[in-house]
Amino acid sequence: MVLDFLRGLFGRKHRLPIDRVTRAPRAAKKEAQAHIDGMQAALDQLGALDGIADIGTAKRLPKGTEGLWREFLGHYDEYLKIASTHLKLDEAVRPGTPEGRRSCYVAPFGVTGLESLVIFRTVRLWRDFPDIAQRLAKAGEQLFKDIQGHHAGADPEKIRMTGPAVMQGRLQNARRLVPCPLLDEERGRCRVWEIRPLVCRGHFVTGDPERSDPTREDYVDLPAKNLRLPIHQQVAHVQLEKRLGLELTPFLYANILVLLQLVEGQMLPEIGEPPTRIGPDGIAVRKANRNKGSAKKHKGKGRRR
Ligand code: SF4
Repeated sequence: MVLDFLRGLFGRKHRLPIDRVTRAPRAAKKEAQAHIDGMQAALDQLGALDGIADIGTAKRLPKGTEGLWREFLGHYDEYLKIASTHLKLDEAVRPGTPEGRRSCYVAPFGVTGLESLVIFRTVRLWRDFPDIAQRLAKAGEQLFKDIQGHHAGADPEKIRMTGPAVMQGRLQNARRLVPCPLLDEERGRCRVWEIRPLVCRGHFVTGDPERSDPTREDYVDLPAKNLRLPIHQQVAHVQLEKRLGLELTPFLYANILVLLQLVEGQMLPEIGEPPTRIGPDGIAVRKANRNKGSAKKHKGKGRRR
């Protein structure tokens, strides 16, 4: 047990490049203070929303949840911009871009409920969601098997999220070269860029991007920086997570599927939002926009036929 802990803490071979945390310089934090305050204000407002602790039972989000999370992300991006300039990361390659797409072989890990809720609401509306859900299930199952394969105990419930089994399983899984299902493989771009997880946002590959190929021998030593939330906002984010009480996992793929199950295949609306109709094929039915010029044009043509 103690040995496991020490291995998890110091064992380089168990850590993926995306797990090595980089401290933001003090001067960067000072410069970004307004955005740090903005993040804190958004977290405070989220925590104060009526019904934020009842999402699991109400199967609805309090009005304004997504907007506040996006506001938080906007401040986080500004914070990252300032911190990355201080660390001279302007040339670094990011996951979810054509140059950084290889980083998307690593399944996002350490993703919270709030992040997952907002991502779920976006992907549930995609026309190819049924296909994406299947790919998430397949990728998630394989990831779990890879982790379980490195777990010495018999009880999978006892796998420690910071232990070597999870780290080694994630590495083995990345080496299968199956990209995150949320990556547009043709364009090499993240399809949830605006709301992508914090772990993806904060990852900067500073070495040769070719080395982000997890099958390479030198992959684990890939030069990279990983910026995280400032400590106070990290604590506030964790507290908010506890308040949500959704009991999700740290894995994005699993979380999207758990949420899908929670809402029985439907959409997870905010209070006051009109319901989204889901067709028999599992695809969200979009309402035709009757005000669109093209819609009017085609309406007339269709009648004449
Ligand atoms: S969420 Fe986006 S950036 Fe993150 S791994 Fe998936 S595709 Fe890449």
